[in-house]
Amino acid sequence: MCMMCSVTYATVGAGLLAFSPGVPSTTATTSPQTLTSQVASLQRLPSAIAAFKMPTLTEPQWLKDQNATELAAAQAKKAPISRVVTYDVMTKGAITASFAEFRTQANATLNDGRGWTRLGVSFHEVASGGDFTLVLSEASQMTSFSSGCGVDYSCRAGRYVIINQDRWQGATPSWNNAGGSLSDYRHMVVNHETGHWLGHGHASCSGAGQPAQVMQQQSIDLQGCAFNAWPTASELWSSQLGITV
Ligand SMILES: [Zn+2]
Repeated sequence: MCMMCSVTYATVGAGLLAFSPGVPSTTATTSPQTLTSQVASLQRLPSAIAAFKMPTLTEPQWLKDQNATELAAAQAKKAPISRVVTYDVMTKGAITASFAEFRTQANATLNDGRGWTRLGVSFHEVASGGDFTLVLSEASQMTSFSSGCGVDYSCRAGRYVIINQDRWQGATPSWNNAGGSLSDYRHMVVNHETGHWLGHGHASCSGAGQPAQVMQQQSIDLQGCAFNAWPTASELWSSQLGITV
């Protein structure tokens, strides 16, 4: 301990003790031994403060979800709707699901503030001649659109954004086994297949526990990612519409 330090601490310590409200005055009656002991306590403060560590705080999942929702809503506000994308709707093969419900839910998904509207577009259903055609298809009819489409999953082929009726009604075993809900699956599959039409290929999980990109093949395997039915910030571009990130 250097002499100047001792003098400085002693001076500051005495000053603090003299002017601290609620602390008994030590100026007139405190013995030199008591004062020395109090100054020694003050001298230990810097190392005690340095040794103090802030506890590590972990955000609970509900807070992360809430923050993500608020961020998406804020981004939705920032992206004024400047372009209307039109689509018509049809069925293919034997349909047992409610077509009215399909149209209503698909339109709600496409125009949800968490979704592709963040590109600054809105989606309007038209009777015919839309920019793309949204299809609800019997599973066995999927291959009629393209040899690249299979009976097990949904698909996009040219102007057709095709939702496999079996997936619409029952999601997939891996999705269900991981605890995903059917409503989230429906959001995801409409956003994913429309994402292909917008110009996107497939994405991979960016890290365990991270939200999956909507263009990840979540129907098949989450790869350690968490369900995510909506495009992530890095997916907000469309070569089809000429919109860059
Ligand atoms: Zn795909």
